[in-house]
Amino acid sequence: MLLTTSLEKVKGVGPKTAEQLSAARLFTVGDLVDFLPYRHEDFSEVVSIADIHPGKMTIKARCEQIATRPVRRGLRLTTATLADDSGKLQAIWFNQPYRETQLKNGEFFFSGEFEFNYNKYQLTNPSAEKVSDMPVQTDRFLPVYRSIKGLKSQLVRKILAELRPLMTMLPETLPKAIVASEGLLARSDAILAMHFPENSDDVRTGKERLAFEELFELLLASQLNKQANAQLVGWHIPFEQSVVASFVKELPFDLTAAQRRAAWEIIQDFEKATPMNRLLQGDVGSGKTVVAGLAARQAASAGFQTALMAPTEILASQHAETLSKLLQPFGVTVGLLTGSVKGQARKTLYGQIARGTVHVVVGTHALIQETVQFHRLGFVVIDEQHRFGVKQRQELLKKSEHMPHLLAMTATPIPRSLALTVYGELDVSILNELPKGRKPIATKIFAPTSSPQLYGVIDAELAAGRQAYVICSLIDDNPDNDIKSVETEYRKLKNSVFGHRRIGLLHGKMKPSEKDEVMTQFANGELDILVSTTVVEVGVDVPNATVMMIENADRFGLSQLHQLRGRVGRSSHQSYCYLVMSDSSKPSQRLREIEKSNDGFYLAEVDLKLRGPGEIYGRAQHGALNLQIATLSDTKLIARAQKQAKWFAQSGQNLLEYKQLADQVKQYQRLTTLN
Ligand code: ADP
Ligand code: MG
Repeated sequence: MLLTTSLEKVKGVGPKTAEQLSAARLFTVGDLVDFLPYRHEDFSEVVSIADIHPGKMTIKARCEQIATRPVRRGLRLTTATLADDSGKLQAIWFNQPYRETQLKNGEFFFSGEFEFNYNKYQLTNPSAEKVSDMPVQTDRFLPVYRSIKGLKSQLVRKILAELRPLMTMLPETLPKAIVASEGLLARSDAILAMHFPENSDDVRTGKERLAFEELFELLLASQLNKQANAQLVGWHIPFEQSVVASFVKELPFDLTAAQRRAAWEIIQDFEKATPMNRLLQGDVGSGKTVVAGLAARQAASAGFQTALMAPTEILASQHAETLSKLLQPFGVTVGLLTGSVKGQARKTLYGQIARGTVHVVVGTHALIQETVQFHRLGFVVIDEQHRFGVKQRQELLKKSEHMPHLLAMTATPIPRSLALTVYGELDVSILNELPKGRKPIATKIFAPTSSPQLYGVIDAELAAGRQAYVICSLIDDNPDNDIKSVETEYRKLKNSVFGHRRIGLLHGKMKPSEKDEVMTQFANGELDILVSTTVVEVGVDVPNATVMMIENADRFGLSQLHQLRGRVGRSSHQSYCYLVMSDSSKPSQRLREIEKSNDGFYLAEVDLKLRGPGEIYGRAQHGALNLQIATLSDTKLIARAQKQAKWFAQSGQNLLEYKQLADQVKQYQRLTTLN
């Protein structure tokens, strides 16, 4: 048997089991060996019902009575009476009616939180595993596996028992010197310790070794990226003090200290022989665009073209407008290339770009099309970096004879803990300061019944000359739920409460030209209210808008809510954000956090804790970045892995001698590079 052997060939795996396994994306022996338990259940500490006290508990009991009833739409409650020789207690599950059949006969281990809820003590949403299903030899300390598509832990345990002899022979993946000097378990011992632990110490040392390996790979990738970038030859863009000074002087505002620092870091990178590879992180509204504008001004003066790629047409055209206002006075020309520039106009633009008569080219993905030829492309700016895949960025960078200087801008701050590991070797400029005079946005959660009251508040703001966003999550009405669609909401507001106001509608299914028109009207103050989906989420800048009402706020992610909210609070006027819930249930932690804080860096940390890195940074780029074992809060282990990764990269070790390690590191390198 090999790691590549398909699981069907393993003793005891019939066609039906094989099907279940492949549904969970487990195909080979190796897949299952690497399918690590996400926790271990200590069944040596089973308490009797008479001794139970609040907290996480495991009991061994029978189910005496069980019933399911609907509580309200979309929510079914299953209530059971559990009993052992010492007493009885109540357990409840939400939307798990199958518990009725599962718990009919026999004795089960129930593990869950014993808490005071709905006015009585009960076991909430416990897991349940049949006592007779537990393999005898391990019924003290059991690994629990993620139940992907209903895959059962006991089935995984049974098959793994067959694979145990093979696991003792797993090759070492890390350099032996590192394993020895860090005092880590060998890979095979660590895998065995995770799948067949005898006690909590086994789990701890197994985890340590595997977590170290994950972190080491990530950090090594980051080191190697840095080394690779240092080998590249870029364009030399000399600093001209008078050029920068005159640009700053013409601005309608003073730059913040953070903006000045970031601009200076970029200008310095321009002068170096190696191409810049810099991330500009600034919270929403911190003024990233003008920093890019300043750098583009410097590049143009030295005879270099700049390309700025934005994720949506709305944003691209807004950037083109902003930049041309900033740059035109200096004779720097700005062109806009999007999907809606067609026919002769497009041809003409291609010509101007190729000849270099357009100095700054702003656009969407249209920029990376084959037909676009640049002229001395020296500086590339990617706005809202996380919206693009690695490939798209590389396509754009390839359009120059030398590697251009790259500035990736993002308003989704990377949490410090993640930045330390994944982006440890990346150059980062941070705008941790909002322009002067900004007031924190007042955010508040409301029940769905509060809408009429909120309309009154919004109308008062409009009367004072401000503008408002109303955000909904879907375009068409879905009869299955109550989510308000933009279309319906738009018509409703127009025909009732806001009949006397000018209302616009914006969603992703409109033609780009229509979207642009509505957005321009709103930006020019020709509309009072914009009813929109999340297409306004990124980047849009209308400083006079001061109120945002988000319907079904519980449907959105934390970063998304922060981004959306960032559309207001862009001037010295007090701004407001109203989060309206879908129902009257308790607001999630997500919503409570966003209500409490305006700090994107703090919220990014929270989001990371709640969801993990892969979810936050999008599948395309970071899907494989989800750490299985390591946690980013383990700073001690990160420091150890960092030290070894540096040693490995700098002491000229040959990565190719470690094939499995090399494959993984290469993959991480692709995921964590900017260029
Ligand atoms: P973001 O960082 O979210 O992309 P923008 O670049 O869109 O932010 O800038 C937000 C708004 O703040 C814009 O209207 C811009 O003109 C304004 N702005 C930028 N820098 C300053 C500053 N130093 N002082 C005042 N307003 C500024
Ligand atoms: Mg922006």
